[in-house]
Amino acid sequence: MRASGHALPVPDARTLLPDLAPALDEIRARAEASDEQGRTDPRSLDALRASGVLALAVPREYGGPGADGRAVNDAVRLVAEADASLAIVLFLHCAVTARLARWGSEHQKERYLHAIAAGDCLAASVWSEQNAGASKARLATTAVADGPGTWRIDGSKTFATGAGIADVYLVLAQTSTEAGKGGYGSTAQSLFLVDAATAGVRSRPGPDLVGMRSSATGLVSFEDCRVAEGARLGRAAQTPEIISHPHHLGYTLGAVGVGIARAALDSALTEAADRGLLEHQAVRHALAEVEASVEAAHALVDRAGARALQHRGFRIALLAKAHASAVAESACARLQRVLGSAAFVATHPVNRLARDARAIAHMGPPTHLCHEMAGAARPTSED
Ligand SMILES: Cc1cc2nc3c(=O)[nH]c(=O)nc-3n(C[C@H](O)[C@H](O)[C@H](O)COP(=O)(O)OP(=O)(O)OC[C@H]3O[C@@H](n4cnc5c(N)ncnc54)[C@H](O)[C@@H]3O)c2cc1C
Repeated sequence: MRASGHALPVPDARTLLPDLAPALDEIRARAEASDEQGRTDPRSLDALRASGVLALAVPREYGGPGADGRAVNDAVRLVAEADASLAIVLFLHCAVTARLARWGSEHQKERYLHAIAAGDCLAASVWSEQNAGASKARLATTAVADGPGTWRIDGSKTFATGAGIADVYLVLAQTSTEAGKGGYGSTAQSLFLVDAATAGVRSRPGPDLVGMRSSATGLVSFEDCRVAEGARLGRAAQTPEIISHPHHLGYTLGAVGVGIARAALDSALTEAADRGLLEHQAVRHALAEVEASVEAAHALVDRAGARALQHRGFRIALLAKAHASAVAESACARLQRVLGSAAFVATHPVNRLARDARAIAHMGPPTHLCHEMAGAARPTSED
């Protein structure tokens, strides 16, 4: 915890959520089997819901703790140490929650935020499509005004984390044929809150993934799916701003990278000690170097979250994502070599972590877009 000149100390995730630690033990124990089966274990998801962590980004007036970016990143990291697949489910859920809390109508907030605070509503974002490109500029999914106060949504989404396990999807759809503005999402698009049970919504497993195998990252399609005008989050002109909102709060997927790298390092340290490998200077030095890189990435992620109310939060959150994902990949690759042939066995824990680490760079915004967006956001005098 850190006290600044203006702000009160912000409690970390463990202080805010006393039930998180036992839930994580349960989740960690099933992570390997879930990865092998390539599906989310419902008992792990139940443990996550019961831990109270889904409520984290819900403001106090709607029954949540109103946590800031630092506590959200902290919770996501802790979950990633136990199971990276569930950590990305949690991250995307918290990002939707924060968008709802900032941009939702009173009706939307009443409808969803209390349920999220109670752990009864899991949210997911379904934006990506085949051929849409990382910036989501070429969406084929459309939402067309269809009679008074109704939208009709049609299209197919890919790589939707939480497909089939989420209760509500935040759907990005083209609402205008005119060229819109925006580097990630566009003003020709709108976001809609669509309940998973709505007629015309269908979720299916997607292609077999290399990593994040139990994150329910799959396909969601919309066919003649009708929702009320009140399902739209904000206005089209605000879409790019709504999309980037969690980064302005300091939320970063870099927290998942740090969690993965920490889990890999902790397990390697234990294994190296048990196997007598610490006698070798080369092993000790390699482990020390990995530890330093993980600590530095952790500090950057923390810094992104702690800047929640300041101008630099957005840029640092994007840079933290790009950096921590690279650190997670390189830490796992180094540890795979340091541990020798034992780590060449497919079921060795470092291999699952290495596969999971690869995913973070591809998740939105992918690394090239993080660098592009952070570079385009002009530093302010406070930077
Ligand atoms: C595990 C996982 C979970 C995901 N979860 C979700 C989710 O919940 N919801 C969702 O909507 N999406 C999700 N995604 C999808 C993710 O957002 C997409 O992978 C992404 O938008 C497509 O990015 P891309 O870089 O592959 O796209 P492409 O635009 O096809 O780019 C392919 C490659 O080309 C290069 N490239 C492209 N453009 C540039 C450029 N301007 N500069 C430099 N290089 C460039 C890069 O190397 C890039 O990796 C998930 C993906 C993964 C892997």
